[in-house]
Amino acid sequence: MPMYEYKCLDCGKEATLALTLKDHDSGAVTCPSCKSKRMEQLISSVMAKTSRKS
Ligand SMILES: [Zn+2]
Repeated sequence: MPMYEYKCLDCGKEATLALTLKDHDSGAVTCPSCKSKRMEQLISSVMAKTSRKS
C-alpha cells in the first residue's frame, strides 16, 4: 500500500498514512489526531527516491 504524507489544516500535525488508491482518489483522508478531514497532501519524499545515475 502506498504511503502518503499529509498535513492537517486544522491541528497542523503531519501524518504519513497508508492509503489504498481508492481512498486516496476519493479524498477519504482523516487526521489521526483530530479526525479532521481537511488534510493537505504534502509532496512526498518518494521524489527523493529517484536514483541519480549521472
Ligand atoms: Zn488534525
